[in-house]
Amino acid sequence: MSASLRPEPKPGVMDIAAYVPGKSAAPAGVKLHKLSSNENPLGASPAAKEAVKALTEKMEFYPDGAATKLREAIGEVHGLNPANIVCSNGSDEILGLLAQTYLTPGDEAIITEHGFLVYKIYTQAAGAVPVTVREKDATTDVDAILAAVTDRTRIVFLANPNNPTGTYIPFDEVRRLHAALPKNVLLVLDAAYAEFVRRNDYESGIELVSSTENVVMTRTFSKVYGLGGIRLGWAYCPAHIADAMNRMRGPFNVNAAAIEAGIAAIRDRSHVERSVAHNEQWLAWTTEELTKLGLNVTPSVGNFVLIHFPAGDAHSAAKADDYLTARGYVLRRVAAYGFPNALRMTIGTEDANRGVVAALKDFLK
Ligand SMILES: *Cc1c(COP(=O)(O)O)cnc(C)c1O
Repeated sequence: MSASLRPEPKPGVMDIAAYVPGKSAAPAGVKLHKLSSNENPLGASPAAKEAVKALTEKMEFYPDGAATKLREAIGEVHGLNPANIVCSNGSDEILGLLAQTYLTPGDEAIITEHGFLVYKIYTQAAGAVPVTVREKDATTDVDAILAAVTDRTRIVFLANPNNPTGTYIPFDEVRRLHAALPKNVLLVLDAAYAEFVRRNDYESGIELVSSTENVVMTRTFSKVYGLGGIRLGWAYCPAHIADAMNRMRGPFNVNAAAIEAGIAAIRDRSHVERSVAHNEQWLAWTTEELTKLGLNVTPSVGNFVLIHFPAGDAHSAAKADDYLTARGYVLRRVAAYGFPNALRMTIGTEDANRGVVAALKDFLK
């Protein structure tokens, strides 16, 4: 082995394209409407704010490393055994832990064409190979996933609904996928937007986790709970997977503020209901108004919409992004997700939604 002149990252690290978060600034003097990261326009529950304020008097103490009270609160609300819940510093951390726990170099993880980019990053970070499969009409295609399974496949990552498309597959399809997967392949159901979905044929995956040994469902406090900055997520897992992840995670991976905010937020069901009702109303309105402008909008069940701009340079997504940003409406470029000519817009306050529609109307003139 030849000695390097400086420490070198392990193989694969420098192939990772670092995650680029949504922009969060408007030009000086312009009011910012941040619609770039699917945050809750109503903010966090007042109870969560109080809980974090109260914590300021005891910040010297380490948190409960097992996050017991938080897992109990989650278990109570969702009807789950807290022993099967693992909490994390955002659900991103859980996704990384799963990759670190179940992938070794040379293994394969299947991700979908427009799937959440974090899956690819963590797969590569584990030294494994991301295998990307086609979607159909910007929607997960179960047959394409199954066709990509090899004897090296160890994980299938599936966001349902997916970000940035907002599309979902009915639970029958998830069941069909699971039934055809080898038993040693882990199916990760990322249900970050589950609370927003209003469809009778949708399920987040709780029952499938409960009745099988190779499915994990991940959830987040970053979206409907409005706690993106606090960083809190969780997974519902079979006991053997919770056991493995509890060995891999940091001893205090969930901080005290996240524990207190999470307990208060998950118990405030009226804030969740208000947030979901707001989204239902403005998702429909925004989709309709953008469509009336002649824009193609992918039908979404989440708290965001994917807006496709006309072919040609005049009214491209890049130009629309500049136009909107100059007016304080900060949306998300999604070229890295395979949509070079689209923007993702988080459903915002009434003001923000009306403002984007009015600005795009001018832009398209
Ligand atoms: C926002 C989002 C998450 C949540 O990430 P956190 O780390 O919990 O903030 C997970 N998956 C998808 C698909 C998302 O869009």
